[in-house]
Order: sequence, then structure tokens, then C-alpha cells
Amino acid sequence: MIPYGRQDISDEDVEAVTAVLRSDFLTQGPAVPRFEAAIREATGAAHAIAVNSATSALHIACMALDLGPGDWLWTVPNTFVASANVGLYCGADVDFVDIDPETYVMCPKALEAKLDRAEAAGRLPKIVIPVHFAGQSADMAAIGALAARYGFKVIEDASHAIGASYRDRPVGDCAHSDICVFSFHPVKIITTAEGGCATTNDAGLASRMELHRSHGVTRETALMEGASEGGWYYEQVALGYNYRMTELQAALGASQMTRLSEFVAKRHEIARRYDRLLGNMALTLPRQSPDSHSALHLYPIQVEDRARVFARLREAGIGVNVHYIPVHTQPFWRKRGFARGDFPVAEAYYERAISLPLYPGLTEADQDRVVAALAGALDG
Ligand SMILES: *Cc1c(COP(=O)(O)O)cnc(C)c1O
Repeated sequence: MIPYGRQDISDEDVEAVTAVLRSDFLTQGPAVPRFEAAIREATGAAHAIAVNSATSALHIACMALDLGPGDWLWTVPNTFVASANVGLYCGADVDFVDIDPETYVMCPKALEAKLDRAEAAGRLPKIVIPVHFAGQSADMAAIGALAARYGFKVIEDASHAIGASYRDRPVGDCAHSDICVFSFHPVKIITTAEGGCATTNDAGLASRMELHRSHGVTRETALMEGASEGGWYYEQVALGYNYRMTELQAALGASQMTRLSEFVAKRHEIARRYDRLLGNMALTLPRQSPDSHSALHLYPIQVEDRARVFARLREAGIGVNVHYIPVHTQPFWRKRGFARGDFPVAEAYYERAISLPLYPGLTEADQDRVVAALAGALDG
């Protein structure tokens, strides 16, 4: 089976991890700060906080922004469930904003219309989470302008988008947001097995995210309420979690970061070849916005008769997938009051979506197999 996504692990990656195993620190050593420095350098953000998943990064981001009961968090339905779940972790209410029919990311016009209605009802969101679907940035200038006008905070869910850029600036520089979050799950652009990171330019937010990453406990006297009682002394000043990344993960991540631009370039090469080979078939190719240089995590096509085409591809050994079942249509969210029909653009997109295999190790021969199987499946 040709999978839809796969990690790319080099001998240098293996050596970086085994070197940690032979070192003094398996956790809380020098590798995590080194990985965070690599993320700061790649994004231009002032602070990077590495954690054990993007879900944890989204959670500490919401906590740092003081999301709680009585507050609203808005995200898109075309995402993985984690982008919405984190609102509930904080006791807030969650709602969704529909996507743009061409780029499949949050539609700023739908956001603005919903903000107008929410303002009239006195229910403006505290946090909005646009998702950089498939590696393509949402229209952050438009969303940032609305944030300034309506007074909400913005967390970018850039789980798909490390190595991407928006208006010639790296995703993660937080030019139009408060915090940006990346995922390092093996199918994403770089991997730490499990792992995630939050970036921000706000020192206060960075310090609060660091606290929440590790039990709400600090050894920094500046953050303590009392005076230090000696070298052993620490204080718990908030309720945090254990969301720390291990040294093994961070060493793998730092080694992977040295090949980030190579990974993204390879994904573009493969996607351009798909564009060429699929151009005449009865399907819709993914569209790239001129404002954004995608990291190309996914190559989502739109086809008629999706279920049949999907089944035929799987039978042919092509590990296609579907991104995403709209979150609000999941049983858990339907029980919270959402229904089919609430976000028609995301639902219509989902009905015809198939993600084709796309990862740096995909060979031209693999890709030719995918294309041939797709041609056969579309023929009936
Ligand atoms: C993968 C993903 C997440 C969750 O990432 P983890 O690192 O697995 O927690 C969140 N949001 C989106 C859009 C994702 O694709």
C-alpha cells in the first residue's frame, strides 16, 4: 500500500536520537532548547515552546490567553477534531466558521458576517483558530484586521504548515496572530514521532505557556510569589500539565529541521507533477492562493462519486485518505447542538474530497501508479 503520508528519516536523524540515548539527559536537557532555537530561526518568532503534541500546544495557547467558562472559541469545521476540542478542555463554548470554497481555509467574509451577528447578540469570541489546511495559510491579514476590530485573539493552527510562507513571511512569525502552533506527527512536514510547538512574539504569553507545559511549577524567582528558600526551591503558581517533549523527540526534530526546505521543495515538485498528470481528468485540483507558499502537507482533489473512487483506489493499493469529516457532524458535536447543513461549504467540500499520497519519499513510479489507478477509478 502506498500511504498518503510518510516520515522521511535519515541516518543523521537516527544518529541524533541514539546520541541522546547515550547522553546524561533523556528529558529536560539541552536538546529541547536547541530544537526551539531552530524553530525560532526558521519562523522568525521571538519565542518557541516545544511540547508533546500540537494538541497540547493548542491547549496551553488557550490557557495562556485565559480562555475559560463563558468564553467562545471559534475554528473551522474542515480540521482535525483537536482544533475544536481544546476549547472544551478550557470550559469554553465552541462554534465554527465556514471555509472558502476554493482554498478550503477559513473564509474571512463568513467570519466577518458571523462576528457582526455575534456582536449584536453579545457573544463575540475570545479566540479564533484559523487552520492552515493542507499547508496553505489562511488569509491572515484579513483575519488579523478583524481581530483588531472585534477584539479577539488569534491562534494559528499551522499543524500542516511548518516551512510555508504567507506574503513572503514564514508561517509562525505571528505577524497577524498571538500564537502559532505546529504538529510533528509523522505524516506532517517534519516529525518528532509525537510532538508540537507554539511560537509567539509576546514574552508574557511565552512564559505562561512554559508554566502550563510543566505543572504550573517554576524555578524562576521573577515568577514566584514568595522568596526562594534555597537551591531546591520551586513554586507552583498555576495549574499546569505535563506536556513536556523528550530529548529524543527534540533531537529528532532538530535534525529534521535541517532538511525543512528540502522537504517542502520536494513536496512542491511532486505536487507540480500531479498538477500536470491530472490536469485533463474529471476532477478539481487543489488551488494555491497567490498570497501563500504552501508547505503542501496534503494534495486534496475533488471528485464525483467519491466513495466509489476512494474504494477503487484502496483496492488498487493506494492508501488515499479523506481530510476532513467536518467536525460539527461528528456524533459528539451533534450532541452539542450542531447539525448537518450548518456549514454547507465544508460539507460540500468533504463530500467530494480525497487526499492523494504526497510525501518526500514518494517516487515517480509510485506516483505513476497513483495516477493510473485514479484514471481507472474515474473511468468507472
Ligand atoms: C495533526 C493535527 C492536529 C493535532 O496534532 P497532534 O500533534 O497529533 O496533536 C491538530 N490540528 C490539525 C489541523 C492537525 O492536522
